[in-house]
Amino acid sequence: MSFFPTIKELPPDPLFGLKARYNADSRSDKVDLGIGAYRDNNGKPWILPAVKQAEIKLITSDDYNHEYLSISGFEPFLKEAAKIILGTESKAIKENRVVSQQSLSGTGALHVAGVFLKEFYYGGSKSIYLSSPTWANHQQIFRNLGLNVETYPYWNNDSKSLDLTGFLSSIKSAPEGSIFLLHACAHNPTGLDPSSEQWKQILYELEAKNHLIIFDSAYQGFASGDLEKDAFAIRYSIDQDIIKTPIIICQSFAKNCGMYGERVGAIHIINPINSTATLGAIKSQFNKIIRSEISNPPAYGSKIVSTILNDPNLKQQWEKDLITMSSRINKMRIELFNLLTHELKTPGNWEHIKSQTGMFSFTGLSSEMVARLESVHAIYLVSSGRASVAGLNDHNVKKVANAFDEVVR
Ligand code: PLP
Repeated sequence: MSFFPTIKELPPDPLFGLKARYNADSRSDKVDLGIGAYRDNNGKPWILPAVKQAEIKLITSDDYNHEYLSISGFEPFLKEAAKIILGTESKAIKENRVVSQQSLSGTGALHVAGVFLKEFYYGGSKSIYLSSPTWANHQQIFRNLGLNVETYPYWNNDSKSLDLTGFLSSIKSAPEGSIFLLHACAHNPTGLDPSSEQWKQILYELEAKNHLIIFDSAYQGFASGDLEKDAFAIRYSIDQDIIKTPIIICQSFAKNCGMYGERVGAIHIINPINSTATLGAIKSQFNKIIRSEISNPPAYGSKIVSTILNDPNLKQQWEKDLITMSSRINKMRIELFNLLTHELKTPGNWEHIKSQTGMFSFTGLSSEMVARLESVHAIYLVSSGRASVAGLNDHNVKKVANAFDEVVR
């Protein structure tokens, strides 16, 4: 007799399964272009100097301890995290229209958003629209909660650019008040962001249909090296009063602080008006969700990020660190492009590798080519052809270009 008659073993998670195959590969020149984590020019994980200094400051301070945080999280972290994403001069902050809750990094923020909307947004009757393609976990985070998931066109594979027409027509044809999840910057997996003019068009159309926006901000500072530029769409929609519905922001510090495993993040709801009753009700419901699921958020990472954000010198160092990371990635984009286009004269147009931003490049390589890269060349990327450009460095970029050239021809 089986106690779990319908249970089936699932295949490994595509990304973490790839990582396991990479780890098991004994070829010394293997290259990991899979997981979205920054690596230095020697292919090693990088602890940001700002984080190192903040850790020392934190653990040597007299009031350092390992007590529980409150259910909402570490207040000095939350206050500054809201300013990082909304801007220090944010109208929404000044008008007390923001509710913030610490979450288990970006994934946890998305999960809390889903739980909250399922219960309270028109009784969960609305569908959530995700870009096609999107970060693979988006689908299962919302499907696991029983939300209805739809997609909107985003990537035009022929032109390797934004399918703006398809995107806008999806916004227009979706039922009034649907939920749209937007990548705030450094779109995963395509590395392709709307221009500021395109963003304006998208936001006006969303407002015309009263859709509710979730901004997923997992890479602020990674796309351009500049926190303000990478928050353009979020700040424009709020500061210009474009969007009249509540806005949800899911904020991660995993990538921009290199704090992947510490799970530092927040969910913010920006209410269109300052209503103490609504904001208090939202906060209490966030508290209920967090209390029942994780009791209270993890302390260590949020205290480190708070130490950085509340110390002008450390914050300045962090801003330098963001430039270090984003400019190394951009340098690698240019080198790979030059090798393919000018040196090897690899068939096809590789311009998109240079023009895409953030951690990833949607290379356009087919799943067969990706499989050959892994089996013949020990180069690992996900089957969609998305490459984590952070895995490239001066020592492996030639090998990768040669291998791309070989599988394309
Ligand atoms: N959103 C996007 C688009 C991502 O790519 C990721 C991570 O890869 C996340 C959210 C969540 O990351 P984390 O939970 O590590 O903050």
